[in-house]
Amino acid sequence: MSSTNFSQPLWALVDCNNFYASCEKLFRPDLSARPVVVLSNNDGCIVSRSAEAKALGIPMGEPEFKARVQLQRHNVAVFSSNYALYGDISARVMATLEHICPYVEQYSIDEAFVRLDGPLAANAEDIAQQLRETVRQWTGMVVSVGIAPTRTLAKLANHLAKKTSGVHIWDTALHVAETVLRALPVREVWGIGWRQSRKLHEVGVTSAWGLRETSDLWLRKFLTISGWKTAMELRGVPCIGEDEGPTPRRTLVSSRSFGEKVYDLASLEQAVATFTVRAGERLRRQKLVAGGIAVHIRTSRHANRPSFDATAQHSFQPATADTVTMLQAGRKLLASMYKEGPAYAKAGIMLYDLCPQDCLQGSLFAEATPVNDIRKTALMMALDGINSKFGRGAVHFGAEGPQEAKWHLRCKHCSPSMTTSWKDLPQALCR
Ligand SMILES: [Mg+2]
Repeated sequence: MSSTNFSQPLWALVDCNNFYASCEKLFRPDLSARPVVVLSNNDGCIVSRSAEAKALGIPMGEPEFKARVQLQRHNVAVFSSNYALYGDISARVMATLEHICPYVEQYSIDEAFVRLDGPLAANAEDIAQQLRETVRQWTGMVVSVGIAPTRTLAKLANHLAKKTSGVHIWDTALHVAETVLRALPVREVWGIGWRQSRKLHEVGVTSAWGLRETSDLWLRKFLTISGWKTAMELRGVPCIGEDEGPTPRRTLVSSRSFGEKVYDLASLEQAVATFTVRAGERLRRQKLVAGGIAVHIRTSRHANRPSFDATAQHSFQPATADTVTMLQAGRKLLASMYKEGPAYAKAGIMLYDLCPQDCLQGSLFAEATPVNDIRKTALMMALDGINSKFGRGAVHFGAEGPQEAKWHLRCKHCSPSMTTSWKDLPQALCR
């Protein structure tokens, strides 16, 4: 039995199993027992494998041409990636989670962090089963659920859930945690990239347990604040907030529920632009480029009014990290979907088909000339530089609209930022 301390909230990481391949099987019962693989944009590499394909030993990330003989020999069903389908199934899975738990943070196309407070945390095991069963019934997707006091440990618990029954509750008893963390290579910890992992290996830290036990001083000096936060999270202390974790490997999601219902296109445009700008910053911070963007808008699922839910996508040729290009695409997509009348409650964008900047393939048919590309890159670097020095939003895009727009998250009960904002400076009166 787990000895989790229920006075603090828990995080559930809910992750769809073999997401793209499972989406392809969803409306094709004839494929239920057949191995399925999905290829990246332009049919390059294998990016998703069904359980049957994994059992055949078909490697993840393998270029299609290298695996072709093996795929044919085993009668594997091969699909190009269909982000319109995956985006829609993703939205259904997220909506199902929101139906059961009020606080859902979508992390990537097929993963979400779900916060469990109070009674939800006290019944974590039941909630996990309920999430699994409901998602299965309503969407046909199979999810794994890992539950722990911090996001980093929830990621790890999810990893363990995948190997067992699909649900794993992190056991906070120290001797249990030690055994699990000792068996886990440090490179596999959420947020530890190869660079950090190499530094840790140089000082003999090879396991997640080693990282947990490393001194705060060393961590802050050599792995910066983010490495220290990861170690704290492994110790069970929540430190990583929304949007602070590492960028997921293949898709990057930025979405929010609105503070108030929104009816007009202009407000939706501002919201979508704001999410796009945030996602663009994260993309460049991780030195990635995106192969496409998908925009999603919807009405509330709890209102009695007629619901509206739409997703549209656009591929970039070539892949890009330029916010201006992304904003233009997002605006067009939104205009193509927008319908007057519905009370919109949420919007979001997803950048998909991410790959490292330096593996960017040129395109024969691209409109952008190299000079143009260099100028765009320089502009983005200048923008990111200013914002990291003077604070987020020091320079921003007009498309983002005013900070006080009504779609911004409601925080009526938020205390003033007395130490960080001049306008919230406390006032004293002398009489
Ligand atoms: Mg998954």
